[in-house]
Amino acid sequence: MKIICIGRNYIDHAKELNNPIPKEPVFFLKPDTALLPKKNPFVYPSFSKNVQHEVEIVIKINRLGKHIEEKFAHKYYNEIGVGVDFTARDIQQECKEKGLPWEKAKAFDGSAPTSNFVSIKQFKDINNLGFSLQVNGEIKQQGNTKDMLFNFNQIVAYISKFFTLKIGDIIYTGTPAGVSPVQINDRIECFIEDKKLLSFNVK
Ligand code: MG
Repeated sequence: MKIICIGRNYIDHAKELNNPIPKEPVFFLKPDTALLPKKNPFVYPSFSKNVQHEVEIVIKINRLGKHIEEKFAHKYYNEIGVGVDFTARDIQQECKEKGLPWEKAKAFDGSAPTSNFVSIKQFKDINNLGFSLQVNGEIKQQGNTKDMLFNFNQIVAYISKFFTLKIGDIIYTGTPAGVSPVQINDRIECFIEDKKLLSFNVK
């Protein structure tokens, strides 16, 4: 399986990092080794001094597809979850300044803790869905999918121009504002609406 991540999909987050507002989706990949096994802590990587949380809604592909038209894209996923796109912001900044790829900063082991997936039928409207992240019980990020620059169907259609989407692939759909550094011993909890779907410790 592959993990595809959309960047700069919420204007308030693009602005907080002084990034331009994209005209088409920006994306990158993480390998399957970025998944965090259930019940494991997130191990703070030794190569960074500024690892930040990015809470994101994640969709799971349930059908093989290539060159998917936007109007059919909704047929290619029926479950969503919540995940954290952990980012070594100091390393990412270095990569950006040198014009180098971001993988060292984004795709390291355990950098993609993801919740269990739940049916989208549970929600009234997935394009108007609140989600949030708490650190040690304090809300750090709160977003709503209605603020995405590119919605789920546009993302699926766009990515499938370049990559064949396979059953089990997952797509991180971008983070709202409020990203901040995590510390060893932090407790991270992620919610869709008021339902806690993901929690783990930083070790
Ligand atoms: Mg992200």
